[in-house]
Amino acid sequence: MGEFELIQRYFTRPTPKAVLGVGDDCALLQMAAGMQLAISSDMLVAGRHFFPDVDPRTLGHKALAVNLSDLAACGARPIAFTLALALPDASPAWLQAFSDGLLSLADAYGCELIGGDTTQGPLNICITVFGEVPANGVQRGTQPGTQAILRSGAQAGDDIYVSGTLGDARLALEAMQGRIQLPAAALAVARQRLEQPTPRVALGLALRGIASAAADISDGLLGDLGHILERSARGATVNTEIAINLLAAHAHFTGSSGQFGNIPSPQLALQCVLAGGDDYELVFTAPAAQRAAVQEASRTSATPVTRIGQIEAAPGLRLADGRGAAVANTYASFDHFAP
Ligand code: ADP
Ligand code: MG
Repeated sequence: MGEFELIQRYFTRPTPKAVLGVGDDCALLQMAAGMQLAISSDMLVAGRHFFPDVDPRTLGHKALAVNLSDLAACGARPIAFTLALALPDASPAWLQAFSDGLLSLADAYGCELIGGDTTQGPLNICITVFGEVPANGVQRGTQPGTQAILRSGAQAGDDIYVSGTLGDARLALEAMQGRIQLPAAALAVARQRLEQPTPRVALGLALRGIASAAADISDGLLGDLGHILERSARGATVNTEIAINLLAAHAHFTGSSGQFGNIPSPQLALQCVLAGGDDYELVFTAPAAQRAAVQEASRTSATPVTRIGQIEAAPGLRLADGRGAAVANTYASFDHFAP
């Protein structure tokens, strides 16, 4: 199978939204009047972001999911994406499963594959997504306005929320790399979160005009919340007693030794939730006056949200227990170039 047959067979699909899809030198998108293009890229490298022998179907899903998650964080509606793919060889079984996983998620979000590049080389997947967001909205300086939810809008007194559950992807990684042991039911739940994250696109759209700032959680809650704090020039306190309960696998620990059953340790649970990474949930802020609106956005998007803390004027990210007592923050987020 040659390069062009491969593209034709696995990556060429009807693209009703695009003016022009796969097959020419460029794809063409027509933006609707008053809409801005939201653009984001994410690369997945074998051995770095996934195990080389991972199920190609889940890999296809995840490669697009992590990109859709960025659109979700901005409150952008997905339109299209491009796929740059380096493959060690052209295995039909691998390509079929990969493109099935990729394109079924694309279909679910109405996001069309409109182009890309294909080359031989160590397995590497780079996707660029294109979304749309209305232009008429908050104006900053001389820039035209936007309804996109930015990292920079958090204000002192705003509530901090997260969507869904956190920490399970990291918990699965710990188990799959043999550092901890998990009951089978807990591992199944955690592994599903690692391999098939759900991009929170519906929630992001519902939060437009309600959230003051948002980011998606790819490197860990504290790190990604830290990005909001930096861009907003604010600080925050996060409640660790609420946070620790966000681990979905919790419900599947059946041991008898207290609250955590046979989970390795509450310390590890908190580490996973606060700094585990690979969650692809949203962390967002909203004024207290928007609490009912946030609940409504959660309901209409069928996405659970949990209030986990508050934005403060004093810079820095603080942790507190349920009674407000300070908890030492020793939870480092993932950094590819950490010394
Ligand atoms: P060029 O040589 O101009 O870069 P290519 O010959 O690489 O173009 O690609 C031919 C067409 O196939 C282009 O429209 C390109 O966008 C598309 N394409 C290449 N690889 C992929 C892929 N993995 N998925 C989707 N479209 C692809
Ligand atoms: Mg090319």
